[in-house]
Amino acid sequence: MPRKAHPWGAPPWTVDFCPAPRALPDHVDFAIVGGGLSGLSAAAWLRRLAPGRSVLVLESASLGEGASGRTGGMALAETAAGNLPGLGDVLAGYKKILRALRIDSRLTLPGVWELSRSGPAKKHSPICWSDSGDLKIVRRVPGGTVNPGKVLAGLARAAENAGAQIVEHAEVRALDFSNPVRLRVRCNRRGRIHRKEIRTEQVLLATNAFSLELSGLRAAAEPKLTFALATAPLSAAQLKALGLSSRRPFYTVDLPYLWGRLLESNGVIFGAGLVPPYVGTPSRFPFHSNSIKNRTHDLRRYDVRKGEAAARLRWLESRVRHLHPALENVRITQRWGGPILFTEKMLPIFRWFISKDHPRSKRVMILAGYNGHGVALSVYLGKWAAQALLARRPLPHWR
Ligand SMILES: Cc1cc2nc3c(=O)[nH]c(=O)nc-3n(C[C@H](O)[C@H](O)[C@H](O)COP(=O)(O)OP(=O)(O)OC[C@H]3O[C@@H](n4cnc5c(N)ncnc54)[C@H](O)[C@@H]3O)c2cc1C
Repeated sequence: MPRKAHPWGAPPWTVDFCPAPRALPDHVDFAIVGGGLSGLSAAAWLRRLAPGRSVLVLESASLGEGASGRTGGMALAETAAGNLPGLGDVLAGYKKILRALRIDSRLTLPGVWELSRSGPAKKHSPICWSDSGDLKIVRRVPGGTVNPGKVLAGLARAAENAGAQIVEHAEVRALDFSNPVRLRVRCNRRGRIHRKEIRTEQVLLATNAFSLELSGLRAAAEPKLTFALATAPLSAAQLKALGLSSRRPFYTVDLPYLWGRLLESNGVIFGAGLVPPYVGTPSRFPFHSNSIKNRTHDLRRYDVRKGEAAARLRWLESRVRHLHPALENVRITQRWGGPILFTEKMLPIFRWFISKDHPRSKRVMILAGYNGHGVALSVYLGKWAAQALLARRPLPHWR
C-alpha cells in the first residue's frame, strides 16, 4: 500500500534507520521523550557514559518527523542568541561528537555567507540577487552543512548499538512527578493502540515545538511552522552565475529572511516563511502543576498543500524565481515545512523542570527551543544533557 503523504511534505533526504522491535519496559533509569537530534544525542551519550544504566527513547511519530528530519542542515556556530556563558565551541564539539559516534554525516565546514540588502557588501560579492533590494554578501562566518537524514540515522544507530531502546509511535501523554516519575504512554503499533505506564528515575523532555503542556512551555515559547523547497540539480554554469560555486550555505541578516544551501546533487534548498506569522518572542515563565497532561498539537493543523501554509510556500517559490535569471524556470523537486520553537530573547531552554511543589527537583530536564539554529547545537547540548543527568556537569544559567 502506498504511504500516505505527510501534510508537511517531504524533504530531499531519508532517515535510514528502523529501531529493533522490543517490548516496552516497566521501569528504566532514563526516559527520553522525543527522538530528534537532541533526544538521540542524549541517549547515545547516556549509554556511552553510563553503560550500566537503562535508557529508553520514546518518539510519538517516526524518527525525523519533527524538525530534525525536516531541517535545512546548516551547521552553525554558537546559538540563535549568540555566544552564551560556558557554551564552549559548538562546531568543534559537534565535529568531535560525530567522529566519536562514527557518524557518516557528510559534514563540510567551508563557512557560511551572511547576505544583506543594506549592509556594506564585500567588494567582489559572488552573490548578487534581487529580493526586496539587492542581496549581497556582507560577511563569512564559521559553519557549513550536513546531511540531516544521515546524522539522525547515525545518532539512532549509535544510541541503539550502545544499548538504548528506541520506540517509535509511542507518545508520552502525561507525566506524574511521583518518585519514581510515571509516564503515561500511548503506543500505536500498526493501528493497534495500547497504553502503558512506565516508571523512570529521570526524564529528558526533548520535544521541541510539540507537547508544550508536557514541557510546561506553552506560555513561554512560540511554536511556528517554517518552509523550504529544493530545486532540481543545477549545472556548474548556473551555480557560477548564482555565485554558489564555493558551495557555501547562506542566510540573510535582514528581512525578509532567506536561507539556503547546496545539496550533494547540486540542487539548491531555499527556506523562509512562518505560520502563524512572527509577532515577537514570549516573555512569561510560569511555574507548573504537579501532573501535566499533554493536550494539543497546534502545528499539526497545517498542510503545505492547502491554505496559509501553501500560500507561504508559493511566496517563497516566487521569491526564488525572481532572485536571479538562472532560477526563473528552475524545477522544484520538493516542498516541505517543519516546526521551530521561538523563545524569549532567542535563548535555548536547557534547565530542570520547575513545578510548584518540587522547585528543586532534578528529575525532569528540558532541552528545547533553538529558534531555528539547532542542527549542531542540539547534538552538542544533547551530550551536555547526558552529562548533567549523570550529575557530571552542571546545567548552564541562560535565563
Ligand atoms: C525547515 C527547517 C529548517 C531548519 N534549518 C536549520 C538550519 O539550517 N540550521 C540549524 O541550525 N537549524 C535549523 N533548523 C532547526 C533545527 O532543525 C532544530 O533546531 C533541531 O532539529 C531541533 O531538534 P530537536 O531534537 O530538539 O527537535 P525535533 O527534531 O523537533 O524533535 C522533537 C521530537 O519529539 C517528538 N515528540 C514531541 N512530543 C512528544 C511526546 N509527547 N511523546 C513522544 N515524542 C514526542 C516529536 O515527534 C519530534 O520527533 C531548521 C528547522 C526547520 C523546521
